[in-house]
Amino acid sequence: VTREAVGVDVGGTKIAALRVGQDGRVLARRTTPTPATDQERVVGEMIAAATALRSDEVAAVGVGAAGLVDREGTVRYSPNIAWRDMPVRERMEAASALPCVVENDASMAAWGEFRVGAGANVRDLLLVAAGTGIGGGIVTNGSLFVGSNGFAAEIGHVIVDPDGPLCGCGNKGCWEQFASGRAITRAGREAVREYPLSALAVLSGGDPDRVEGELVTRAAVEGDDVARGILAAVGRRLGRGIAGLVNVLDPEAVVLGGGVADAGDLVLEPARAEFLDALEAPASRPEVPLLAAKLGNDAGAIGAGLLALEKTRR
Ligand SMILES: [Zn+2]
Repeated sequence: VTREAVGVDVGGTKIAALRVGQDGRVLARRTTPTPATDQERVVGEMIAAATALRSDEVAAVGVGAAGLVDREGTVRYSPNIAWRDMPVRERMEAASALPCVVENDASMAAWGEFRVGAGANVRDLLLVAAGTGIGGGIVTNGSLFVGSNGFAAEIGHVIVDPDGPLCGCGNKGCWEQFASGRAITRAGREAVREYPLSALAVLSGGDPDRVEGELVTRAAVEGDDVARGILAAVGRRLGRGIAGLVNVLDPEAVVLGGGVADAGDLVLEPARAEFLDALEAPASRPEVPLLAAKLGNDAGAIGAGLLALEKTRR
């Protein structure tokens, strides 16, 4: 019997839903904007997405959501959506009459990469999702590690400089302030002021506020040294942080995803170099490959669908 699932990735700007087969193949998709400020409307849109993609073969629904998801599938807190103590699993099950599994979005992305992406050949994997912020997902001995409450792998919120920029979590100087898309944007804006003749400054029309991470990547790909320097610095900070996490977790491989990874080797090469430099005793352990993610923006929804299928298998 063919079993399919709907995976829904509820993000701060869009709700991306996919229907996936057991092999992770994407069979249908639907993307809608997130009405992020209205708790109930986000639930309504999420349910509408799952309903629209339903087929007779769909046996379960998986949901990935940014923030703290407890073991009951309740989103206790989300930084980008108005959800507070929202019983997402319960609401989806009531509306769909299907079993539902809810986890943090980066955990779901880790599961997707582990099952059918860059980590398909390993049993212990750390996913570093460096987008606007930095999310994390941990697979250990073939299982998703979510901690005692479900809140594990919030790797972006390790404080690396107590005098650093204010973070969305309320603390100062979290790792994600230095090694995410936000850090690239911040450095790009400063560079436009400091190097008005750089290709980056020309691309931005001389307006720092027009600089986003993608523009820095574009300038870097076109050969701009200023933009390349920004990506290399962020790559090194990523690599240093990842070395610390590998010292803690000892994974078989690290998968780097999120928008920052779209810059490819311009970020990955400096990240790898710094990672090896900062890792404890690299010569005395097997190589821990730092791999580029394979599933792109679909990782979360694919992982959500596959995890839901596996957890609800009878
Ligand atoms: Zn933080």
